[in-house]
Amino acid sequence: MPTDLPPLSRKIAVEVLVHGPQSRAQLAKKMGLSPATVTRIVKPLVEMGVLVESDAIRTPGRGRSSLPLDVVADDYRFVGVKLTADSIYGVVTDLRAVVLDSETAPVPSFDVADVLGAVVALVERLRARAGRALHGVGVTVGGVVEKGETVADSPFLHWHEVSFRSLLAGEIDIPLYLANDVVGLTRAQQWFGHGRAWPHFALLTIGAGIGYGLVINDEVVPTLVSPFSHFPVDPHGPLCPVGHRGCMTAYATSAAISAAVSFGRREEVSYDEVLQLAEDDDPVATRVVGEAAYALGRATAAVTSLTGVERIVLSGEGIAIAELAPSALRAGRHAYDGGRTSALEPVIRPMDFHEWARGAAVIAIQEVFP
Ligand SMILES: [Zn+2]
Repeated sequence: MPTDLPPLSRKIAVEVLVHGPQSRAQLAKKMGLSPATVTRIVKPLVEMGVLVESDAIRTPGRGRSSLPLDVVADDYRFVGVKLTADSIYGVVTDLRAVVLDSETAPVPSFDVADVLGAVVALVERLRARAGRALHGVGVTVGGVVEKGETVADSPFLHWHEVSFRSLLAGEIDIPLYLANDVVGLTRAQQWFGHGRAWPHFALLTIGAGIGYGLVINDEVVPTLVSPFSHFPVDPHGPLCPVGHRGCMTAYATSAAISAAVSFGRREEVSYDEVLQLAEDDDPVATRVVGEAAYALGRATAAVTSLTGVERIVLSGEGIAIAELAPSALRAGRHAYDGGRTSALEPVIRPMDFHEWARGAAVIAIQEVFP
């Protein structure tokens, strides 16, 4: 793969990858370039096979400029791996991050060597089934990842300063990329999801933790890891594990939600059971889910107030509560603004852990392409 392409070549190749087949004339218009410039830039991309000319809509009598250019997404294979405290989720995708295969493996222990062995075995199984060369492997994990190399702090795996990328590179002879899991999910939304048409958008996720990603002017903005984890919602609310009252972690994480419903019902209730109980109008589950959705609404309003970004994607493996309690979500969004901010309804994108793994694959795609 050529890695020394000029920035404008890369921009054009990415434009075609993200927004689909387009003619040289369409690209010139969209990017504010002359048709001659686009023709000149595209020529080496076609010669290298990064872009191909499709004659599917060739119009007789018209020149090359009307031929649509596209990528051959199926010529590429990527693996994405997401690590959680319980499981290792893996997917195989093509260049447009379409998931072609997936597998889940248990986390044997939090011991680094054990996890390394399990990840390597999972990648090798996915590679064998893919039946062709892999262009890159992306691995994501919740917590602080430094320089694409080191898991500096992962509360879920209890890891500190683990150079996981190098360890993996010693075992797997494929380009390897390591990133924070929410960054992976944000990048997947940016290129292949709900952020595609939006130069500015934010992503909030709920589940085991509270995730936040921000894109401004088509660039992922570096943020602290999970800055909304302990965002205050109500000073008289329930406790979080570090002793705050009424923060986002206390209201909206899966553990907090099942603990609150278990306490109210005086029996152990899992997160999935909470969702079912709320659907069946159980008073405890309905109350707890409503309060979690309200807290999430408060967080979305804060994002818009602080960044000016109106397009917000809500996701994460726990996001079903937002769909169960839309009015509580709306009440949270407008608790302090009289309905003025966040004019746009948030996009709620339900997902499972393989979606997180797809985000890991997108980390590799963005590094490798074009
Ligand atoms: Zn807290």
